[in-house]
Amino acid sequence: MVQSKFKPKKLILTAGPSISYKEKSYVLDAVTNGWNNHWNDYIKRFEKKFAEYVGVKYAMTTSGGTGALQLALASLDIKNGDEVILPDITFFACSDVIKLIGANPIFVDILKDTWCIDPQKIEKAITKKTKAIMPVHLYGNLCEMEKILEIAKKHNLFVVEDACPAIGSTYMKKHVGSFGDFGAFSFQGAKIMVTGTGGMLVTNNKKLYEKAEYLNNHGEDSKRKFWQSSIGYSTEMSNLQAALGLAQLEKIEKLVAKKRQIFFWYKNILKDIPGISTNYEQENARSNFWMTSVILDDKKIKRDELINKLKEKLIDSRPFFYPISMFPMYKKQNTSVSHHVGLNGINLPSGVNLKKEEVEYVALTLKELLK
Ligand SMILES: *Cc1c(COP(=O)(O)O)cnc(C)c1O
Repeated sequence: MVQSKFKPKKLILTAGPSISYKEKSYVLDAVTNGWNNHWNDYIKRFEKKFAEYVGVKYAMTTSGGTGALQLALASLDIKNGDEVILPDITFFACSDVIKLIGANPIFVDILKDTWCIDPQKIEKAITKKTKAIMPVHLYGNLCEMEKILEIAKKHNLFVVEDACPAIGSTYMKKHVGSFGDFGAFSFQGAKIMVTGTGGMLVTNNKKLYEKAEYLNNHGEDSKRKFWQSSIGYSTEMSNLQAALGLAQLEKIEKLVAKKRQIFFWYKNILKDIPGISTNYEQENARSNFWMTSVILDDKKIKRDELINKLKEKLIDSRPFFYPISMFPMYKKQNTSVSHHVGLNGINLPSGVNLKKEEVEYVALTLKELLK
């Protein structure tokens, strides 16, 4: 077996941004000049460039991915008693925003390979109350958007894509977030591009964009200052954050390339280990491989024990998201794939600053522990 000569001096972390001179100079410019008439210069530039990159007509900065999802649901007029179908494996922000608007999250199982929502299970879950489907491009993996859009069309449902972790991922050459009525992105500190906290809501629909903008301005009448015509939101990003975001976006393809490189460094070593699976990329897809992840399909060692053992070797890792239906607020679901993946999966160190020797050290250590 190949041995890694590399010995880490400190914990190898799961994430970490790439901040260079450009980020600092844009932020310095924003904090120096971005006031009064220039209060939103970077916001406008960031939104314009983001829309161009993703290939949509409209992009609106938000306080985070969660805020973007919340605004999407509000703009689609989803309310009390409505149902929204989503995968059982996702970050709990997804079910929160559905609940908080008064609707009911309907959890369905995921596919074993992509870890994204199973289109067949969507069809089975549709009722008269269903208003929308929320596919989640988990860890940068790609949902079967063709099938999901077909189902949505057939049943007259909205599609709100949670593309929070997946900027740069494409399906049939189209960027995630651009398929549905709305797409939501996150720039939280562990994501592939960061603004500290922050997010983006995108759409191709002018009416929906205007509705989201209006609601996000507290529901203030656009023609009458301080006159409120609807209860609204204020999930906004600051110009300072947008300056950071713009600099990050200008190098997004480099960041995606690095994430992909990291995945293939891992894959080269992990492919020889029986009884595990890693991120799957369909033939017509490009994943941004936000988090290289491993599922212990058939292994004696328990997931949490493995996390502890890795930590002893100065390797940080994260457990997968739990199936949301396991939480005490919800009814238990028979989502066997979600339970298998959620309880046996870990995210490996995947920060864009990782060096090849570090990735190889992690992969070889994992291989040793899984013997
Ligand atoms: C990161 C993430 C979110 C939340 O984004 P925030 O910006 O932290 O609100 C939502 N869904 C998924 C799948 C995510 O990975």
